[in-house]
Amino acid sequence: MATAVLSRKAGVIVGDDVLKLFNYAQEKNFAIPAINVTSSSTVVAALEAARDAKAPIILQMSQGGAAYFAGKGVDNKNQEASIAGAVAGANYIRSVAPAYGIPVILHTDHCAKKLLPWLDGMLSADEAYFKTHGEPLFSSHMIDLSEEAVDWNIKTTAEYLKRAAPLKQWLEMEIGITGGEEDGVNNEDVDNNSLYTQPEDIYEIYKTLSPISPYFSIAAGFGNVHGVYKPGNVKLQPGLLKKHQAYVKEKIGAKEEKPVFLVFHGGSGSTVEDFREAISYGVVKVNLDTDLQWAYLTGIRDYVLNKQEYIKTQVGNPDGEDKPNKKYYDPRVWVREGEKTMTKRIIIALDDFNTAGKL
Ligand SMILES: [Zn+2]
Repeated sequence: MATAVLSRKAGVIVGDDVLKLFNYAQEKNFAIPAINVTSSSTVVAALEAARDAKAPIILQMSQGGAAYFAGKGVDNKNQEASIAGAVAGANYIRSVAPAYGIPVILHTDHCAKKLLPWLDGMLSADEAYFKTHGEPLFSSHMIDLSEEAVDWNIKTTAEYLKRAAPLKQWLEMEIGITGGEEDGVNNEDVDNNSLYTQPEDIYEIYKTLSPISPYFSIAAGFGNVHGVYKPGNVKLQPGLLKKHQAYVKEKIGAKEEKPVFLVFHGGSGSTVEDFREAISYGVVKVNLDTDLQWAYLTGIRDYVLNKQEYIKTQVGNPDGEDKPNKKYYDPRVWVREGEKTMTKRIIIALDDFNTAGKL
């Protein structure tokens, strides 16, 4: 059981616990879904799913999601709203997660080059938190320089890992392009396609980062897309991940079959077979956002459509002209319906990724 290997069994886990959990996931062939959260409501929907499925969970905030946590009315110049929102969200998650009795990895999503001030701001918050608590505020962050030149991507990622290492903080990086259908690629010649990361790149990253810290993972492009698109020209090739592991293993002379922690981006819309194949090659985290946005909406949508006659006026409905409608328009009633459908969809993901029942 995963909790047997963890020093902190419930709440936000950091440092060696994160490493141990990802090792355990590789060993037992499961991946932890990373749920994009934008509010206390989406946080609790995700925590409830993980608790009910007896699984660990990763909660992550994107730069936009973090700003939303602070409020859309706040100016985001110099990433101030995104920093404040991420810190607020992190403190909220740290406060409520223990009540759910499951381990939670607190993570931040894609940070591209132009957003680096956001990451810098969060790292300052981590260092301040470390001074008083002996651990970083966030379990991990993601840096995404995949649109930049490969050399610069690796070099800059290494600098950030150096800053995170004394905190024993995890860093996820991205290589290759995780595109959309509009990238319109020809996948006939897979190995020459920029959508697909090459094993040499993975080894180069491993070689550069592993002397700095063991706390890193790689999101490698293997034809995945962000968002749900109609079937297009991009074809998922999870088999490439197996090649990456084999190449690194051979180069470093590793005993283990899966020396690299891999991350699956753009999971929405993929098949269970794709997920399970990728997980068998050492994927420990799968990002899932688009499908959950849809799931959250459906509960609220259906409620509003089914209760139309009860929410048009504050007083008066089909049961009587003077009947009050307060119990229908209280946000705890209709927002809750979105939480329920989101929770259900996350439980499906926990089953798909073999995570359910692993605590
Ligand atoms: Zn990505």
